[in-house]
Amino acid sequence: MSVPAAEEVTFCAKHPEREASLRCIRCDRLMCTDCLVRAPTGYICKECARRADDKFFHGTSRDYGVQGAVCLAGTALATALVGSTGLSTFFFALFLGPLLGGAVAELALRLTGRRRGRYSDRVGTGAAAAGAVLVTLVVLPYFLGSVWHWIFVALLAAGVYGRFQVRI
Ligand SMILES: [Zn+2]
Ligand SMILES: [Zn+2]
Repeated sequence: MSVPAAEEVTFCAKHPEREASLRCIRCDRLMCTDCLVRAPTGYICKECARRADDKFFHGTSRDYGVQGAVCLAGTALATALVGSTGLSTFFFALFLGPLLGGAVAELALRLTGRRRGRYSDRVGTGAAAAGAVLVTLVVLPYFLGSVWHWIFVALLAAGVYGRFQVRI
């Protein structure tokens, strides 16, 4: 039997000067601690992690457009509706904000076949925040000084972000 290779010093495939501690479970390349990414099944290299992401992110630029437009219009409408009923108290802010944000993002995802781009969460959240802020400025200027109204707006945007993060 040959001597086990355990004593052999191995080097990172990307950083030849660094010692490798592990192999990627997908492509078997040697990795230093800077090159590894924790995956549910073990450690993988950054390239494999990115490839896995690319498989997940297959939204088109049209999807970005639709998602942005739906989030902008949806949160604008939600803000106008909640604002005009005078419901921006703490309960409605905490309860309706995340709920409506999630519902708007869900609609945006349904209209785009649940396709996400790498930046869908940021595009959707930015559009949602813009929609809510614009409506406040134009339609509900008397809410500008209301802390709870802004908490509602923030949670609305957070609801959109949260929905985009769920990977289904
Ligand atoms: Zn790999
Ligand atoms: Zn490395």
